[in-house]
Amino acid sequence: MFIFRNLVILVVVIVPKKNLESLDIGYDIVVIGAGAAGCFLAKNISSNYKVLVVDSRSLPRHKACSGIVVRQGKELLEPFRPPESIFLKPKEIHIVYSDWTHKLEREIQKGFWNTDREKLDKWLYELALKKENVDIIDNAKLIDFNYAEDKKHIVVVLESNGGVKNIISNYLVGCDGALSTVRQVLGVKPPKRYVAIQELIKAKGVNKAYFIFDEEITDWYAWVIPKGEVIDVGAALDPFKAREKFAQFKEKVKQKFKISGKGFFDSAMLTRPQSVKDLVLGEKRVLLAGEAAGLISPSSGEGISFALRSAKFAANAFNKNFKDALSEYKKEAKPLVERLNNKFLKSTIISNKQKRINLMRE
Ligand SMILES: Cc1cc2nc3c(=O)[nH]c(=O)nc-3n(C[C@H](O)[C@H](O)[C@H](O)COP(=O)(O)OP(=O)(O)OC[C@H]3O[C@@H](n4cnc5c(N)ncnc54)[C@H](O)[C@@H]3O)c2cc1C
Repeated sequence: MFIFRNLVILVVVIVPKKNLESLDIGYDIVVIGAGAAGCFLAKNISSNYKVLVVDSRSLPRHKACSGIVVRQGKELLEPFRPPESIFLKPKEIHIVYSDWTHKLEREIQKGFWNTDREKLDKWLYELALKKENVDIIDNAKLIDFNYAEDKKHIVVVLESNGGVKNIISNYLVGCDGALSTVRQVLGVKPPKRYVAIQELIKAKGVNKAYFIFDEEITDWYAWVIPKGEVIDVGAALDPFKAREKFAQFKEKVKQKFKISGKGFFDSAMLTRPQSVKDLVLGEKRVLLAGEAAGLISPSSGEGISFALRSAKFAANAFNKNFKDALSEYKKEAKPLVERLNNKFLKSTIISNKQKRINLMRE
């Protein structure tokens, strides 16, 4: 008999990444998009349901974003104990509303979280990945969906690396952002869109987030935000004049903030809903959450808290009333729609010269 002493057997269990071929054919819920909305929905859904999350990008993903998380978002994330690594300096940030057209400035003590969006997304992705009832697949794209003959199931058509697979699901949830395919296939008009361009420039000396209104640059807003070692200089712009307007904005920022040099460029589309008509929570067995539903602030472009809250409401709806999840979701999401309704008013104030001046002077 041999006695093995001091023998350490290292067993490394490698869980292979799911791909199109290895996916099951049927799920209770298919979620399109593994951003803030998609991952938080997967995290909050009951383990009774078999869930598939699909993203067209490589996960964990990179998304152009300033990563400011407002109070409503903080409240949802705090119970999951976010690691310190997702924060950038200064971790808690105050806001300065700066109207460059009328030379007005107002500071508000907000204490929003200043996160590294890539790290925040990675953490959320890992929270979803840990759930045994959730399969996640990346580099796979939703290209179409349709109701099955029984009208109770949806045939979801996915494409990856030239291969196509049909998945059968009870529900489909579009968490697929500003350019939502789910919304498009439903035949619902997208809200107005802007191009958000940002440049991350190595610089010091800025320690508040500046939300800037400058009519020469955009009818929405621009920003200068400290992010650790760099400063995020960005603007939400009319797609037809984006490059030229960004260059003009950068020149102004250089002078006002004494910043020089070139940084890393990034951009993405940004939705700006105009009225409650742009907020669409779904149809029959298809739900929309986050920016795909039009849930983003029309005044500040703040969308992370809306993505998280709508995802939580959709998860609650499935957990409470799977049979009629959409009606339940519409009930749950009422406070979100109400909050946005107030913001539509604020958005018209911000776009109106005299009203904005009055607001800044209050
Ligand atoms: C430059 C910029 C700065 C911003 N700054 C802030 C900020 O500081 N604070 C804030 O709160 N908000 C900010 N926002 C808005 C915020 O980023 C979004 O509102 C938020 O990420 C929306 O989350 P979501 O999960 O709904 O969609 P997204 O985060 O956009 O995720 C959608 C996902 O769906 C995937 N997808 C899309 N189509 C398909 C398909 N057909 N098949 C499979 N997958 C698909 C995409 O790959 C993506 O990963 C900013 C946006 C931009 C562009």
